[in-house]
Amino acid sequence: MSSNVLALDPIRNLHHEGKPDRAEVEAAVRTIIRWSGENPDREGLIETPARVTRAYEEAFVGYTHDPAAILQKSFDEIEGYDELVVLRGIRFESLCEHHMAPILGRAWVAYMPDGRVVGISKLARVVEAFAKRLQVQEKLTAQIANTIDNVLKPRGVGVLIRASHHCMTTRGVHKADTDLVTSRMLGCFRDDPLLRAEFLSLTA
Ligand SMILES: [Zn+2]
Repeated sequence: MSSNVLALDPIRNLHHEGKPDRAEVEAAVRTIIRWSGENPDREGLIETPARVTRAYEEAFVGYTHDPAAILQKSFDEIEGYDELVVLRGIRFESLCEHHMAPILGRAWVAYMPDGRVVGISKLARVVEAFAKRLQVQEKLTAQIANTIDNVLKPRGVGVLIRASHHCMTTRGVHKADTDLVTSRMLGCFRDDPLLRAEFLSLTA
């Protein structure tokens, strides 16, 4: 049954009491299967609640990661490097918080170092830590940019995301070929139109 462990959400600083255990989630999936009109005890469906629960566990793994901690380790032996750093086209899968439908997209993450850089894989891990949660693309974009800005304290940050939302491509209004583009520019990316244009040209 429910554990009474207090889990601290690193982003919203909310405490969640009594997180349901795996058996409760499996029972909920079984309820949905019954509600569909299916027999959850037939052979093809018997393992489905366990599989679906594991899939959601993977989809929500971001809640167990602290994005700020990922960026803590930076290094400054960079010979005065002070130009744009851009990690391009980072693929991610998320779930929209309104429909729990897939958001499939790519993120371009850029910053202008101010004496310190991070390992490039850390930028991808920050994207992953925020993507593997229930999300809104605008919020995801802002969270990635804000975290890099707060922890690394660069001269500026630019984040651009392009993603398709299955809540509108495969259901709802069924507009299959649409994607949503969002961006957040901070510091010199916000102030310097040339730098912003250089970054955007690298996202084409
Ligand atoms: Zn949605």
